[in-house]
Amino acid sequence: MTDQPVEARCDHCKQTRPLFLYEPDHDFHVIPVPCEWCAREKQPLLCARCYSVEKRREESAPVSPVEEQAVIGFHLLIANNARLIARAEADRATCEGIAAATAKSESAA
Ligand SMILES: [Zn+2]
Ligand SMILES: [Zn+2]
Repeated sequence: MTDQPVEARCDHCKQTRPLFLYEPDHDFHVIPVPCEWCAREKQPLLCARCYSVEKRREESAPVSPVEEQAVIGFHLLIANNARLIARAEADRATCEGIAAATAKSESAA
């Protein structure tokens, strides 16, 4: 059986068990924040029990106020960008309208 997890010493409980490499679900930081999970050079190899304990700990870890503010700022920035793009589109349409009208009146004259 090659798809069996390797049995080795768990990084947490130090028991010899089938181990799984812990993968934190942390792709969502919008700013570089000090984060215990992302700061790890190497994720631990954990047994199933320690894995779920670690997962729960990660999920319940509070988001730092700094990051929370950054997330809000990030969404505001996106909303603002969308407005600016819509505005630029409208301006471009107006300019094209004027150019078309000018060209029309010039060719008519
Ligand atoms: Zn363990
Ligand atoms: Zn993180």
